[in-house]
Amino acid sequence: MPHDSPRRVPCPDCGQEFSARGLPAHRRQRHGVAPQAPLPTAVPESMVHEILGALELLRGAVERIDERIRVLEPQSPPCESVAQEAQRLERELDVLLEEIGCVQRLASTSGASDPSGPHAVELARLRREQARVVFRLDELAKGVPNEERFLS
Ligand SMILES: [Zn+2]
Repeated sequence: MPHDSPRRVPCPDCGQEFSARGLPAHRRQRHGVAPQAPLPTAVPESMVHEILGALELLRGAVERIDERIRVLEPQSPPCESVAQEAQRLERELDVLLEEIGCVQRLASTSGASDPSGPHAVELARLRREQARVVFRLDELAKGVPNEERFLS
């Protein structure tokens, strides 16, 4: 039996098996069946998954590019070198630490312990600023931009 040959298909009219390419000619000659215009082929599901996967990859790439642009956009003057930025941040940090010390002394001498009072609010703001500067200095020390975040 020619069933084990995947290229042979049975004729829907007489059941005789023909090669996929020979069948239309057989049907036309033997049964007078005009070959149908091929239907527009639907996109196979495997290809849909492939396309969706590719779109996903593209989206991820665009997001990484966006992030890279955000990192590369200079928050400080573009002519500033890494060393200059580090120096400027060190000065900012010194000032911040002085301000923090100042606010803490004020708070202790005035006996202000209200966690939502002006001293606490200002101290929290200075601490956040300090954290930002320390983080940036750490980034500069390790070399920026940190490439590892783009590899995942
Ligand atoms: Zn036939």
